[in-house]
Amino acid sequence: MIYVVSGPSGCGKSTLIKNLLARLPGLQFSVSHTTRPRRSDEVEGQDYYFVTREEFERMKNSEAFLEWAEVHGQLYGTSQEEVSRKSRQGDLILDIDVQGARQVKKKLEQASFVFVVPPSYPELEKRLKQRKSDPPEAIALRLSNARREIQESNLFDYLVINGDLNQALEELKAIILSHRCLLRERQKEFKEILKSFKSWP
Ligand code: ADP
Ligand code: 5GP
Repeated sequence: MIYVVSGPSGCGKSTLIKNLLARLPGLQFSVSHTTRPRRSDEVEGQDYYFVTREEFERMKNSEAFLEWAEVHGQLYGTSQEEVSRKSRQGDLILDIDVQGARQVKKKLEQASFVFVVPPSYPELEKRLKQRKSDPPEAIALRLSNARREIQESNLFDYLVINGDLNQALEELKAIILSHRCLLRERQKEFKEILKSFKSWP
């Protein structure tokens, strides 16, 4: 299953996803391409594939992206290759903006869409400032975009309110686990159980 997670910058998507990846086997992260400069704590190929604008444009023109968008003045995109390779191995989570989520919704109807929001606007501002990863003008741009993005909830299936981190983490985990428990998703396991019933007198 593909899970698309979106929400205003600074609401805690990366924090939630990193924690979840460490706790939930069988879940992978779709690493995006971006022209944004790498932050000091980010790892190439793990957080993003950091590319030049030229390289990004080349990929865009050769239709290498499932979706792409300009976000806060930088280009971000999910490559088709990343999604097809990793989704074959199990569940996959995409951390992309609302414009990207809209594009994925048109292409992959069966994906699940999760909207992550902060408990309030002041809390979002506090988190962006505390993160210390962006200069003041970038924070101002992210906050003004957040006012627009928060209006786009109708695109999504689920809402996770990231107030208390552990509770939000449990909610995100529950979304994925409940899907894994669908009978139609467990046919293979269930067949084995049925077989064991038949092989005993
Ligand atoms: P995003 O990926 O949505 O841009 P981050 O995961 O980078 O957001 O989180 C932004 C900041 O908020 C980080 O400093 C992070 O440690 C902090 N943060 C994330 N979730 C919470 C939470 N539930 N409560 C308090 N701070 C949080
Ligand atoms: P950041 O620069 O803080 O890592 O990410 C900024 C925004 O870009 C976030 O909203 C994040 O979800 C979004 N983003 C990251 N990767 C992609 C992508 O591949 N496509 C799209 N459309 N947005 C992305």
